[in-house]
Formats: sequence, C-alpha cells, structure tokens
Amino acid sequence: MAIVVQKYGGSSVADVEKLGRVADKVVAARRAGEDVVVVVSAMGKTTDQLLALAKQVDETPPRRELDMLLTTGERVSMALLSMAIQKRGVDAISFTGSQSGIITNDRHFDARIIEVRPHRIEDELARGKVVIVAGYQGMSYRREITTLGRGGSDTTAIALAAALGAARAEIYSDVDGVYSADPRVVPEARHLPELTYEQMQEMASVGAKVLNAQAVEFARRAGIAIHARSTFQPGRESVVRRAVDGGGTAVIGQKGIVRARVRDASALRDALAIASEYALPARDVSLESEGATMVLATSLAPDWAATRARLEREVPGIAMESGLGAASIVGGAVSEALLDVIAALGRREIVARGVVQNATRISALVREDDVDRAVQTLHEEIVAKE
Ligand code: ADP
Ligand code: ASP
Ligand code: MG
Repeated sequence: MAIVVQKYGGSSVADVEKLGRVADKVVAARRAGEDVVVVVSAMGKTTDQLLALAKQVDETPPRRELDMLLTTGERVSMALLSMAIQKRGVDAISFTGSQSGIITNDRHFDARIIEVRPHRIEDELARGKVVIVAGYQGMSYRREITTLGRGGSDTTAIALAAALGAARAEIYSDVDGVYSADPRVVPEARHLPELTYEQMQEMASVGAKVLNAQAVEFARRAGIAIHARSTFQPGRESVVRRAVDGGGTAVIGQKGIVRARVRDASALRDALAIASEYALPARDVSLESEGATMVLATSLAPDWAATRARLEREVPGIAMESGLGAASIVGGAVSEALLDVIAALGRREIVARGVVQNATRISALVREDDVDRAVQTLHEEIVAKE
C-alpha cells in the first residue's frame, strides 16, 4: 500500500472542534485504503505561549530545558488526535519524535535531523494503524530531547516521508498553497500552482513561513513532492517539485532584521560563530576591504537580547543597525528587476537602506515599519506586471 504523510499545522489543530475535523480527514484517507502517517504541530499559538512562559522565569532560559518545555506542545496534540481518530473507529497510535526514531545532532532549539529510523512506525502501519507523530522534535545521539527550529513540523513530515518511501507529503495549513506574496499582506497575490524546490527554499529562507526552508531542502534531496494545501478549504494546492512549467515570481517580507558591521575577517568569524551558537540566522554576508556586513534575522532567534549583548561584548567595534526589515523578490523576474526594484520603492518614498542581489533573489532592506508597504509596492509594480 502507498504510504502518505500528512502534516497539520497549529491553526489546523487550534481547538478540539478543529482537531475533530482533522480526525475526519485522516479517517477518510485511511478508509480510502492509504497507509497514513500524520505529523502534528502544537495547538494554535502554544509554542509562542510556552516560550513566553519560560521567559517569565528566565530571560535567557537554558536551551536544553527550553526544548523539554517546547516539545510538550506537540505531545498534547498528537495524543488528542490519536484519541479522536480511535473514537471514530479507526486504530491509531501516537509517538513522540524520539519514539519515531528521529535522530538529530546535539544542538538545542535548532537541531538538524541526521538520521531517521522509523521501525516502530513501520511496525504499526503493518498492523493497520494510523500513526500520529509529534512534529518539531527529535532525540540527539546523546539521547537528549531536541527541537528543530520554528516551523520544524514541516521538517519532521518531509524527513519521515523520505525515510518511509512515501508516495507524497501533504502539508496542510490555513492557506491553500503558496502565493506570489503573503495573502494577508497582499490580498490580490496570485496562487502559484507549481514551484521548484530552489525557489521555495529561497522564499522560506527570507521569511515566507508557509513552508519551512529545511523541510524543502530535505524534500529536494529525497525527490519528494510537497503538496501544500488548506485543511478546511480543499480544492487548490501548490506542488513543490524538481521541474516545473513556468513557476512564478514572489515577494516576501520579513521584520526584525538587524544589519551588523564589523572591522575585518577575524571579527566576522567571531560574529558568525556567536550567531550560530545562539541559533541566530545570518545571511548576505559580505567582506570587503573596509570591513564586513551581515544581515541577522532576529525574530527567529530564541534570545536576541542575550545574543546582542554577547556580540557587543566579544566582537570589538561591531555596529548594529536595528529597526530594519527586508522585502525580497524571488523567482523568474529577478535577473532584470534590480533597477525596477529601486525605482519602485523610490516612487513610494520608501528608503532602501541596502540592496543585495544573487542569481535567484533581490532583497531590499527598509525600515521595519515600511516592510508591508514595500511588499505591496513590489508586488504591484513587478510581479503583477509580469
Ligand atoms: P502552519 O501553522 O500550518 O504551519 P504557518 O503559519 O506556518 O502555518 O504558514 C501559513 C501562513 O504562511 C499563512 O497563514 C500565510 O499568512 C503565511 N505566508 C507567508 N508567505 C506566504 C506565501 N507566499 N504564500 C502563502 N502563505 C504565506
Ligand atoms: N510548533 C512549532 C512552532 O510553532 C513547530 C511548527 O509549528 O511547525 O514553531
Ligand atoms: Mg508552519
């Protein structure tokens, strides 16, 4: 029988009523004859609430204990969903990340999956059960409980799909796929029926949270097609795969950006080492004769205040410009769009504090308050005119 992996995000399991509707969908897939593995996120905003709770106790909580705390969120939803499915007369069993054989490196908060040994899942599928897996978590080779970074349930789903040789991975959320911009910011954004792994990975890496960047990277390596769908509004989907016809351009906004400048290569090395230690994503690193700069995405870091203090203490001469955001264009139009991007922002009096371009992306750094307007402008003037 074909194995299908379905992943349901936080908004899809936000309350008991929604959880019941998810159970109905899972039961329908099982009754249609598929072997179903379901990966769940924590209910609603649980992970944010648990993080806030930890910070009430300690502004910079020990990362190991933070992972112990955060993994409880997914444990609640996996158990409740398993109960709901069993109540509907279908056999089901829930497993934590470690029970599912998800082995990670020994980093806390942003661990990477290094191996998946899904024997218990395979055994239970063979017994005819639906298997529910807690997303976002694993166990390090030192037998410590780890988490996979924000949005990491997507990664669990893809890693399991690869290890189980699944026919496909279905990622269910509150949007019916990937759009040319976040539909909350640009209501007229276009639905993109197909995207390449590379485009989706680049979009995710600059803040399009509809799919997690690491998950897309795993899918690319394993050749697994990702079907992004809406849980409660079935119909359309976006498929992320190797070769697509056309693709499309997308605009992505990201807030909480800090640009750091350092004096030389050795200071750059120190700054990047600290960023990595604190799970702070750094990108667009550039080293020139006058010094080096990098872009830090602080909203993804567990404790930016502590990271900043450490950078200021240990990297002499570091200068940080905060209150920034980024508006990025990814996809088809990028190769010719640089001057259009600068001109379009200029016409709306949005000051570009910096622009970087590579083969697949243009990112403009703007004031944080201007991010949404910059995304709307670039969508209107570049994507919509394609
Ligand atoms: P889940 O909790 O199910 O994992 P997420 O909140 O992580 O869901 O991702 C879905 C959200 O991603 C949507 O609500 C949407 O606002 C946002 N999003 C950002 N960029 C895009 C985009 N380009 N296309 C679709 N959704 C996007
Ligand atoms: N619950 C985790 C988070 O909020 C993982 C996920 O939703 O994918 O980041
Ligand atoms: Mg998500």
